[in-house]
Amino acid sequence: MSSFLSDVIKNIRRGCELGGFPEEFYELVSKPERIVIVKIPVKLSDGKLKVFEGYRVQHNSALGPYKGGIRFHPELSLDDDIALATIMTLKNSLAGIPYGGAKGGVKVNPKELNVKDLEALCRGYVRALKDVLGEYLDIPAPDVGTTSQMMAWMFDEYSKFVGRNAPAVFTAKPPIIHGNPVREYATGFGCAVISKEAAEKYLGGLEGRRVSIQGFGNTGQWHAYFISKMGAKVVAISDTSGTVYDPEGIDVELAMKVKNTTGKVINYPRGEKISDPQAALYVDADILGPDAIERQITLENVGKVKAKIVVEGANGPTTPEAELKLTERNVIVVPDFLANAGGVVMSYLEWVENLQWYIWDEEETKKKLEDIMRKNFLRTYKKFEELRSTGKVKTMRDAALVLALERIYEAMKVRGWL
Ligand code: GLU
Repeated sequence: MSSFLSDVIKNIRRGCELGGFPEEFYELVSKPERIVIVKIPVKLSDGKLKVFEGYRVQHNSALGPYKGGIRFHPELSLDDDIALATIMTLKNSLAGIPYGGAKGGVKVNPKELNVKDLEALCRGYVRALKDVLGEYLDIPAPDVGTTSQMMAWMFDEYSKFVGRNAPAVFTAKPPIIHGNPVREYATGFGCAVISKEAAEKYLGGLEGRRVSIQGFGNTGQWHAYFISKMGAKVVAISDTSGTVYDPEGIDVELAMKVKNTTGKVINYPRGEKISDPQAALYVDADILGPDAIERQITLENVGKVKAKIVVEGANGPTTPEAELKLTERNVIVVPDFLANAGGVVMSYLEWVENLQWYIWDEEETKKKLEDIMRKNFLRTYKKFEELRSTGKVKTMRDAALVLALERIYEAMKVRGWL
């Protein structure tokens, strides 16, 4: 049976074949360099001791230190974490930033812990893993279920161990302690920049285009916010509470307020309410942002997707088989490791600021981020159209894989690993 990890490996295999890379390279790039599994004992505020299991998957370091987020999710498995770390290796390579890939995680539902216990878990995670983290070794950031507040606790805990402020070890910190205000919305902003570029190439522009966003967490909210500011019309949003559909257009700022105060998009006062959270995938829209989690568009439901462009805000939301079906229907899928790279690209900018103890202002940083995202899209688009015309590749992911793997391959070769 296929799984998230087997899907990612399948993509790597395909990229290696298309790029004509040798088998030894596939061996190296399809498996993590190091996996660390730790026990994190936490004395909960009710007096009980709970032992959590934590991971850090350090997938590849050919291009630089390991980099990637930490996921807190009740269904997280080690295999999922490996899949996510592998995607980070591709993402960082394609973005042209000097990092390898990593991902960490804890199998926990963060919503079930109070603030004190959550802080204790974050500090415990760092205590358990401090020896394999560092500004030139492995630099974590948030992912699903983790926040800038959690990065603040982790940064503080790590700083205690080294006896100095060590801001460059964690990115996406609050602005007051070495963070940058752009990081809060960077992933969604990047998705919007990419959506606009894709709409210009394949739909003749973004103005007035209908957009549906599945998942209204950090990525989905800011994707919706910025894409509506850029002239598109957001017609559907969803979270686990259900889908809101309004062909007249959703007031995104109001929806964000509702979501962030009540916890549910379904409390949005207008539009049609559909109890199925998946309905956002199927509404009549030009652009679809699957911005929640992996494996949402599969062979079972791909027939119901109506969008012409899919911009993958989440990591791994489309299975390879479903992607091929979409491609047969001429739907453009902008792959996750291109579409949602805004988060890690901004992390990189924050890291550079931290290493130099230098601060860029918000507008300057946003401009840098936008430029990098646009350039990455255009480079990938060019490669895609070039290879597509030769009949060599089918999807934009294929072209992105070749580009990302090429850089890793060159780095390994010149280092003498191959
Ligand atoms: N978790 C984010 C991702 O999947 C960001 C990682 C980072 O900033 O290091 O890309």
